[in-house]
Amino acid sequence: MIMKFIKKSSAKYCRSGLFLFFCCGCDLKNLIKPRWLQNIFSCSVFVVALLLIVVALPSCRFLPQKEGAREREQLPRITQKQAERKIVFEEPDIPEPQETVITGKEKMSVSSSAVKGRRPKVAIIIDDMGYHQQIGRRLLALDLNLTFSFLPGAPFTLKQENQAWEQGRDVMLHMPMEARSAVWNPGPGALYLKFSPEKIRAMVAKDLAAVPHAIGSNNHMGSRFTEDRAAMHEVLAVLKKRGLFFIDSYTTARSTGLDEARKMSIPAARRHVFLDNVQDREKICRQLDKLVALAEKKGWAIGIGHPHTATLNALGSCGRQLGGSVEVVGVHTLVR
Ligand SMILES: [Zn+2]
Repeated sequence: MIMKFIKKSSAKYCRSGLFLFFCCGCDLKNLIKPRWLQNIFSCSVFVVALLLIVVALPSCRFLPQKEGAREREQLPRITQKQAERKIVFEEPDIPEPQETVITGKEKMSVSSSAVKGRRPKVAIIIDDMGYHQQIGRRLLALDLNLTFSFLPGAPFTLKQENQAWEQGRDVMLHMPMEARSAVWNPGPGALYLKFSPEKIRAMVAKDLAAVPHAIGSNNHMGSRFTEDRAAMHEVLAVLKKRGLFFIDSYTTARSTGLDEARKMSIPAARRHVFLDNVQDREKICRQLDKLVALAEKKGWAIGIGHPHTATLNALGSCGRQLGGSVEVVGVHTLVR
């Protein structure tokens, strides 16, 4: 208790506290008459000062701290801020892409790929990365070849995107775009239709700078923005210039993203299955089954999940069995 108090108060008033302690000690010494008592007092001041230095100095604000200690100190404030901002991560009523319906022709082509002995491929993108320190860290630690898409302006984006890159995972920019309703705020770095073409390009470049290891991008929200072909053209032009691919998150059935990317000869693909619209482990496992079934029929499929506890639990349990029937790949292998 006492040590905790000393650490806490000395961390705050470290420099001035120690200075005052020495001054008082020296002054008080002169008030003591017998010489032997004066010597004992001086020794005590020295020992206490030494103890204070050992206990207090490592936590002094003016000294460099270890990264872990700094992070621990910052965490409660970030979490608090995060809770206050009440970030909404996805829009409601996400449409089902037509590709999830398997046609007879596709069945034929898949069975021929099965005959050739190729395993169906599945990519799982984890969107909205960067705001969840603990879940993000645990998702990164999963023994599963996940693709991670990071939001610009999120507190843990830079650290975790670097970690994902070091682990050899596909890293993407999760580009925030205007939603149909102003109720859904896409967050920092968002693109709006009111922006000029120059401002759109500049914002895309700024967002890309926030995720330096991005090899591609998909849209965060964007049910209004992705329907505007001219606006999407500006976004895709920046991606093309940098040799990046585009994945249409398909938050609206009228999205022009994939079509425009094809016209511009940019490697692209579209999301097939949202895994965790319902945050329940069992339901997410059923969505994973759906993703596998689709990949078995089509040859490949792309799923999107989010940093929710239920998603983490599902990927950590039934997600482990994916390898038995499909090959989990980085999404870059599925763009064309
Ligand atoms: Zn998102």
